[in-house]
Amino acid sequence: MLVEGAILDRDGSRRAAVRLRSGLVVEVGLPGTLRKRADERRVRGIVVPSPVNAHTHLGDAVSTVEPPTGPVESLVASPDGFKFRLLRERSSSEKIRAMRSALRRARREGVVTLVDFREEGASGVRLLRRAARGSRVRTLILGRPLARPVDPAELLNVLELGDGIGLSSARDESVETRELVARACRRTRKKFALHASEAVREAPDSFLRPRPDLLVHLAVATRDDLRTVAEAKVAVAVCPRSNALFQRQPDLQGMEQVGLRMMLGTDNAMFHAPSIWRELEFAYVATRLRGRPVSAEYLARSALVEPYEWLGTPDAASIAAGSPAIPLVLRLPADDPAYQVVTRTTEHLMIRPDRVG
Ligand SMILES: [Zn+2]
Repeated sequence: MLVEGAILDRDGSRRAAVRLRSGLVVEVGLPGTLRKRADERRVRGIVVPSPVNAHTHLGDAVSTVEPPTGPVESLVASPDGFKFRLLRERSSSEKIRAMRSALRRARREGVVTLVDFREEGASGVRLLRRAARGSRVRTLILGRPLARPVDPAELLNVLELGDGIGLSSARDESVETRELVARACRRTRKKFALHASEAVREAPDSFLRPRPDLLVHLAVATRDDLRTVAEAKVAVAVCPRSNALFQRQPDLQGMEQVGLRMMLGTDNAMFHAPSIWRELEFAYVATRLRGRPVSAEYLARSALVEPYEWLGTPDAASIAAGSPAIPLVLRLPADDPAYQVVTRTTEHLMIRPDRVG
């Protein structure tokens, strides 16, 4: 396949022609410079690395009805919030079915990797592993041990089954728990993550010590908090649609200004479909609505580039011959590629070369 148009990747955007074969980039040149082959499919569009959804709770997909209104705590707090009651009431097979369907949707939208916070201890991690079996979406599962004080054997079990630990928040966990979990994650080379400043502002010291690999939300953080997190070089996954349901928004403009490593997630699957493109558009429009615009480039990076840095595979965000990127072709105009990608991408404008060959 020969794509004439533009590239948007870790080096920004530029006009280009890209040849794809067997789902990989084999040749890149200026527009009009690649020799056309008679039997080759030709399209106009923008070539990007496949997106990553950096924060989900796929288990919540067991409910798709309109969530009750009320403070976020009453909905998602452990152990008796709406969400946890729901997870308790539903059978394992219902949860697996719901998670599998959410993964299929993510895949249809071109998502290649998803970072999930999986509650329900070791058995919760097992359920998602089963749901993800056979899926082409790579699912990083950050599990959560149930016992408090933490049972070291349970913690180890969750870590063996999953890819790390995703805690509720520093506010909900003692410093002993956080230190024990962070140490175990370091020892096993797995990820340590937690929610931070979602509904109530927390002091950066509380969620940066011990140092996490990933923070989620920072929806009510101050500019100074954002600067502190940026200086600590800790990545943050933001979920603007989920925050909006509870009258909050992360300060994406502030994050861009302080150079924070920002990624994008779709959060609880009972509130929103795990659609990274809808999240991108909403994030952009919400910043304009509030009169604190963020650049389309910064937002595009949050889904297409930063996650690969975070995963330790930055080359996978590079559209170049021989790169390990899994490219996606978006049939959009080549003018101002970041703006096109952030505001106009939908599933039916997408060609997944890894599927069509
Ligand atoms: Zn979350």
